[in-house]
Amino acid sequence: MIRRVVPALGAVLLAVVAASAQTVPTPLQAFGFDIGQDRKLADWTQLTSYYEEVAETSRRVRIDTLGESTKGRPFVMLTITSAANQARLAELHDIQMKLADPRKISGDAELQHLLDQGKTVVLITHSIHATEVGGAQMAARLVWRLATSDDPEIKEILDNVILLDIPSLNPDGLQWVVDWYKQGLGTPWEGGPLPWLYQFYTGHDNNRDWYAFTQDETVLTVTKAQNAWHPQIVHDIHQMGATQARIFFPPYIDPWEPNVDPAITTAVNQLGTWMAADLEAEGKRGAVVAGVYDAFTPARAYQHYHAGARILSETASVRIATPVDISPDQLRPGRGYDASTSSWNFPDPWPGGHWTLKDIVDYQEAGALALLSNAARNRRYWLKNFYEIGKRAVDKWDRWPEAWVIPADQTNQTGVRYVLRILTMADVEVHKAEAAFSADGIRFPAGSWVVPMHQPYASFAQAMLEVQHYPDLRAYPGGPPLRPYDVTAQTLPYLMDVDAVALDQPVGVALSAPISVPRFAFTLPAHLRGPDAPRVAIYKSWQEPMDEGWTRWVFDEYRLKYDTLHDADIRRGGLASRYDVIVLQNQRAQSIRNGFRANQVPPRYAGGLGDHGVAALREFVQAGGRIVAVEQAVDFVTDLFGLQVSNAVDGLPSQDFYIPGSILRLRVDTATDVGEGAEAESVAWFSGNSQAFNVNDDRVKVLARYGSGDPLLSGWELGGSHVAGQPAILEASLGRGSVVLFGFQPNYRGQSVATWPLLFNALRR
Ligand SMILES: [Zn+2]
Repeated sequence: MIRRVVPALGAVLLAVVAASAQTVPTPLQAFGFDIGQDRKLADWTQLTSYYEEVAETSRRVRIDTLGESTKGRPFVMLTITSAANQARLAELHDIQMKLADPRKISGDAELQHLLDQGKTVVLITHSIHATEVGGAQMAARLVWRLATSDDPEIKEILDNVILLDIPSLNPDGLQWVVDWYKQGLGTPWEGGPLPWLYQFYTGHDNNRDWYAFTQDETVLTVTKAQNAWHPQIVHDIHQMGATQARIFFPPYIDPWEPNVDPAITTAVNQLGTWMAADLEAEGKRGAVVAGVYDAFTPARAYQHYHAGARILSETASVRIATPVDISPDQLRPGRGYDASTSSWNFPDPWPGGHWTLKDIVDYQEAGALALLSNAARNRRYWLKNFYEIGKRAVDKWDRWPEAWVIPADQTNQTGVRYVLRILTMADVEVHKAEAAFSADGIRFPAGSWVVPMHQPYASFAQAMLEVQHYPDLRAYPGGPPLRPYDVTAQTLPYLMDVDAVALDQPVGVALSAPISVPRFAFTLPAHLRGPDAPRVAIYKSWQEPMDEGWTRWVFDEYRLKYDTLHDADIRRGGLASRYDVIVLQNQRAQSIRNGFRANQVPPRYAGGLGDHGVAALREFVQAGGRIVAVEQAVDFVTDLFGLQVSNAVDGLPSQDFYIPGSILRLRVDTATDVGEGAEAESVAWFSGNSQAFNVNDDRVKVLARYGSGDPLLSGWELGGSHVAGQPAILEASLGRGSVVLFGFQPNYRGQSVATWPLLFNALRR
């Protein structure tokens, strides 16, 4: 078209075209709507092609595809800094890696040079929880602004900061949620729930994977962003309920996990408080600090063990991209503040009213820019603090042992490999002992694995291997317990059935270079292989529980063949001719029976098993099938067959009984099919969904009991006597079939290797 115009004008137009080829497109040009517009969302295909265009047209932005998401979508990271910094990125990376490991720095002169020359490295991650759509939309506007603006504040950021931006930590979920939302526009279920997990295996638990590293997205982020750069600051952008504060920033409330360096806590405190102050200065009301979120579990905070400050932000939600109206009396108290009342940590309550996706992205972008300004202005502080944290770790904390040893001669090699994979993936240096040795009066065979604790990421190893003593936090003395934000234990030696020994003396034996551990290779138990293997199915409700997803993950890792059954598949009946075992993971009986209400979701996803499904499952067992039910699903099964089994801890007041995610002792009867080959002294992951059984039914056999005395091994427990010695796993013969009932979770977030044998053994004809 341009070539056909008259030559003189053509030359001008070609020049314009050439210039515009260098112009970064705005999100409006790319998507046809402004970021944050009501009921408008860019999907992952649009967003990734936009980022490609920005990287092509801006010398400040580069894009790298780190790998693929679980379902094969590109998982990308943008690196954003000034053009001058981009030109010397390799050199700046070398500086960062030296500051990350004080052992590599020759002396004070070199240190001063590195502190002078280095840049603050910031990682921002968006919308790991895919229904919290604001973060991933906001990323497009933030990237555009950083790519194009010449404001002094932006220039200051670009000169002093290297920003690594992962614009979606969950591309599969982003695409599903956007597609689902668009299909629902104008219907009664507009902005309603997605009827499957928004991360294929883990759903909302995908941000509880930051030490087990089970999912592809976690592995890519840890190996190719975190470990590749060891950022000083990580900003993880989330959303919360609509009726709380407008946005949360740290400080976190107590407790902090005790191996986190205090200089991380203080860094988090100052940065979060700064962000809240910056928003207030802009007139953005309703920011809360020091509420709701604690800093105990490493499952959500990889950075805290890698010399990085983790800043969580949580912005009040809308209905995906559909605005909401919140009346003042809907504003609710949260932990540590009340959304309707002014307090020191929430000085300027938002008064209620209309709240939109644009409000969300405006707040989130303001937060991200405040964080980046702090990183730029305090560049030398961030670098020095980072270096000092690493130095203290290399010098070793007093409370840490000299070394941990994982003896080579252990029966559970699956657990050993899993523990070693976790440690090494977190950049913990693990060595092999070249010969047998003795230490602290214990003899260890050659080939034992040694983790010396004088190393930069020793705090991670300590947090993984030691026993947790969660503080007894109460609303008032003798009063109800204060709920932890997540769980209270992660002791890998218990969860994974591995011996690990803390040594007070240095290990006096030659050690190999640090080892690396490849991806899992699990061997399926013999009874699940070959032509005689049972035909297994797992029930997948449209209100899909995360534990069901985690179970599919373990089955897939083991390459166990199974079918997935939706409500309609079960209602159809005739199950006994197709399956030997059906697994019902932790899900409320009411949810299994009734599912979503009509109008909450499109008709094909509404309703649960219903009467036909319930009858079909009863018939399945009577005809010879086996149901394996876990935690809350036990109630559904006991009801199905009128079993005289109840939950001994149901309805106890929380000050009398409370175990919010802890590791208990378990005694297994190894003379049964389910206990065969298992350890007699094992563990149980016990949480608020778990049960301890009372049994008053001759058809029921007890296969395992919680430990007698005090059953707690790691975490927090009030009133352990209520579960001590109580039945934990039951089996009942019913008609020609049977049911196996787990009171605790045998597959806790893909980590409880110790109890996988019990789950696998339960999968029998
Ligand atoms: Zn979230």
